[in-house]
Amino acid sequence: MKYVGRFAPSPSGPLHFGSLVAALGSYFQAKSQRGDWLVRMEDLDPPREMPGAAKLILETLEAYHLHWDGEVVYQSHRHELYQQQIEQWLSKQQAYYCQCTRKQIKAAGSYYQGQCRNKNLTADNCSIRIKIDAPVTEFVDLKQGKITLPSAIAAEDFIIKRRDGLFAYNLAVVIDDIEQGVTEVVRGADLIEPTGRQISLYQLLGAKPVQYLHLPLAVTENGAKLSKQNHAQGISLSDPIPTLICAMRFLGFVLPKQIETANIDEILAWGVKHWHLEQLPKATQITTLFSNRIS
Ligand code: GLU
Repeated sequence: MKYVGRFAPSPSGPLHFGSLVAALGSYFQAKSQRGDWLVRMEDLDPPREMPGAAKLILETLEAYHLHWDGEVVYQSHRHELYQQQIEQWLSKQQAYYCQCTRKQIKAAGSYYQGQCRNKNLTADNCSIRIKIDAPVTEFVDLKQGKITLPSAIAAEDFIIKRRDGLFAYNLAVVIDDIEQGVTEVVRGADLIEPTGRQISLYQLLGAKPVQYLHLPLAVTENGAKLSKQNHAQGISLSDPIPTLICAMRFLGFVLPKQIETANIDEILAWGVKHWHLEQLPKATQITTLFSNRIS
């Protein structure tokens, strides 16, 4: 079976060092197995998006010669697909409307406890939740080994469509990965926690499970993920090689001295050839000073 991997950025800001690490890790993992590497734009949440970011992210990937296979898929063009699946679940009573606010859930304990499961509510001002009858509390990660997830989170009937009408990340990511034939998900370790929920959806859909590899997350000195919120700088488009080398070192590569005089294609080809999981650090977070760099 052909390996199909993907990089799935959310266009909430420019591509920063942390997202380059995720892009490169998924690229090396796919290309070292002669697989396809897809790019999917996760533009599900317009209020959190930055105008122009999707285009800028793609231009940045091009500047780093990270050429994707096939066409870029935009989640904003796939609402019908998500809605159809939700309607199927609603009609089978596998999903249901919920009127609880975040505040109410918090007041009743930290997690949602199925308060609206049997209320037969209708769409008015409600979110939609999926019924989780068989929580997934563990999975195997290719680097981390067996991961055990908090059972309260795994057991929660989680939201698949928000009260404001936006589709939930967990729903869209699973529907798309299945539909695009993705065989392995490689992404940042901040997404370890929702993996159990995503596996639950694969099970409900009767789909073949995928493999998971979670990469160390680049964090600032105070432990925060690089993100738009903490002003992670976009990476340089005009001078990509130094950043590329930094990101490869972050992924555990020990680069030969001559690499400094190589061009991008040669560096990437060297990376594809030498990529192996033993070199990848097992830590789920690594501090980087990169966020302070001016692009
Ligand atoms: N869109 C998500 C993000 O940018 C990644 C989703 C995934 O790789 O599963 O954090």
